[in-house]
Amino acid sequence: MAQGNIGVTSNNIFPVIKKFLYSDHEIFLRELVSNAVDATQKLKTLSSVGEFKGDMGELKVRISIDKNKKTLTVTDRGIGMTAEEVKKYINEIAFSGAEEFVNKYKDNAAAIIGHFGLGFYSSFMVADRVEIFSQSYKEDTKAVHWSCDGTPEYNMEDTIKADRGTDIVLHIGADFEEYLEDSKIEGLLKKYCRFLPVEIVFGKKKEWKDGKQVETEEDNVVNYVNPAWTRKPQDLKEEDYTEFYHQLYPDQFEEPLFHIHLNVDYPFHLTGILYFPKIKNNLDIRRNKIQLYCNQVFVTDEVENIVPEYLTLLHGVIDSPDIPLNVSRSYLQSDQNVKKISSHITKKVADKLFEIYRDSKDDYINKWLDIKLFIQFGMLSDEKFYERASKFALVKNVNGEYSTLDEYIAKVKEAQTDKDGNIVVLYTQDPDDNYTHIEHAKQKGYDVLLMDGELDVHYISQAEQKFEGEEKDGKKPMLRFARVDSDLIENLIRKNDTQKVELTDEQKEGLRKAFEAQLPKGADEPTAKLNYYVTFEAASADALPVFLVQNEFMRRMREMSQHQQGMSFYGQMPEQYNLVLNTSHPLIQDLIGAMTSEIVLEPKEKEDTDNASNDEKKADDTQTQETIEKTVWTLSGHDDRIAELVDLAFLASGKLKGEALSKFVTRSLELLK
Ligand code: ADP
Repeated sequence: MAQGNIGVTSNNIFPVIKKFLYSDHEIFLRELVSNAVDATQKLKTLSSVGEFKGDMGELKVRISIDKNKKTLTVTDRGIGMTAEEVKKYINEIAFSGAEEFVNKYKDNAAAIIGHFGLGFYSSFMVADRVEIFSQSYKEDTKAVHWSCDGTPEYNMEDTIKADRGTDIVLHIGADFEEYLEDSKIEGLLKKYCRFLPVEIVFGKKKEWKDGKQVETEEDNVVNYVNPAWTRKPQDLKEEDYTEFYHQLYPDQFEEPLFHIHLNVDYPFHLTGILYFPKIKNNLDIRRNKIQLYCNQVFVTDEVENIVPEYLTLLHGVIDSPDIPLNVSRSYLQSDQNVKKISSHITKKVADKLFEIYRDSKDDYINKWLDIKLFIQFGMLSDEKFYERASKFALVKNVNGEYSTLDEYIAKVKEAQTDKDGNIVVLYTQDPDDNYTHIEHAKQKGYDVLLMDGELDVHYISQAEQKFEGEEKDGKKPMLRFARVDSDLIENLIRKNDTQKVELTDEQKEGLRKAFEAQLPKGADEPTAKLNYYVTFEAASADALPVFLVQNEFMRRMREMSQHQQGMSFYGQMPEQYNLVLNTSHPLIQDLIGAMTSEIVLEPKEKEDTDNASNDEKKADDTQTQETIEKTVWTLSGHDDRIAELVDLAFLASGKLKGEALSKFVTRSLELLK
């Protein structure tokens, strides 16, 4: 028996590693199984080039647990190692690699956790002692038995091993007995090894017999050796992609909407398949994530730095040997290769979506509402994606017709250009609430978009900013979105200068008071959340006499503030409506005609003249107050009519509810008598 000292200088790296890797012990299994798979693949290569001439036989990798001996064993029938090779690869390379690793990342535990490539050494995280039994494929070599208890000393001796290949035996430590449980190990194999290219066997398949589970003769293979992403797109059918989706997410019953097969050779290697999932509800969104693999070994499903954020909502796999895995997240973010990967994925996704839109429009339109959120999120977060997506991001009008925004603008441009040459796109967030306004717009020959999506309000603002109109008469038109109820339709798309309201300020004041007094219960008390202002417009005589509008800008800012930090100021502003009196309407003109006026004396507001000294002012105050004459207009005896008009305005905007609605009904019946 040979004894030796492993080539490490510091005697205490074992405890260091154990401590650092505390939260990530389980990766030892991934490391050992990938080594076994590598050894198997190497044998296949040697055989294919004629360097190994024997019979390869069965090449499965087997994982077994002995609960009595408290061991976990990984067995392969790969190339094996000679005593010399164990010395070199395990004693020198593996261990020195580990030491180097620890020294490098000593001060950065986060970098160590989630690292890759600590390899064989990581078995000491869970084992008190590790043994290697190995028989090389090379003829006339002896089998070797190596044993080490986690100190830098090891024992090595010749042994007899019938089978070619390697057994790694882990004597699991007392604190880690969970790794002797079948369900734990099967779970880990499914997590890390599900798509390894060599069959991984864990025990026998079980089946239900007479009400209980019994073992069958068949090996329980835990992986799919030929996952779809490693195959060529031209060799795959639609069903293959769907099948792979279900292999990847066994708990997901919904079918994906589209897939995108990634295949890059330059300037880095990357393969993968991304899916647009069908999202049933918000809870679903983050449940299944994109998984990152390195040569078919699962690494992580936290791909935030590799895939642009808006694409992390997609499902699927990315496999790249070129993504540096054993580095910190902040490094990943600044890595040029990673940046290229990210922008390549963005481009691929955009190209594919455009292709589908171009080639199977109906299918695409059917799925649009399911993918809309992804696309808009992408457009908002990535300029380049915005440009690309404008070719396949759709808008829908209230008649259910879809088009891209450019197509839509081309369609409505003529009718909906205002007197200043700007294009106004009308939209609604709720066709029921805005019914009256929409009808009005339609009568004018205008179209109305339905913008009821979660990100639509952001999309609208972005579209306005990005719009590049064709120059006409030395002026570039602007694009403005306006919710149909944000003003009189005549004001939203101004064709000529609107008529002036011919009322004096005093008359307005009188009308305002009369109408304010009849606001529905609750609406007249300005609360922190709601404010109503009475305003005046000389709209057309056939428009409504009184209507409610909500300022576009303020409303939009409020809505945007719900998703955006730093905008809470707008969120706290009260919601503000204008109750607009149409002074051209005969009913309002009647009311104006019914107003009476009187002249009152009001104390004159003193002007603070700079040249008046304090003394003079004091003297002023004590003298008789100066007064001025003022005309005050009042409207009395018409309360029911005004209340009816106000309620109708609320009703037309879907805002008359509860007690106010019930009062309205009673009053209306009364008026009909
Ligand atoms: P890495 O796999 O990153 O090279 P490891 O520490 O996991 O590092 O392994 C070191 C070396 O030991 C491997 O490169 C390989 O040559 C050898 N080795 C490990 N496990 C096996 C095995 N099951 N069969 C044959 N060789 C192995």
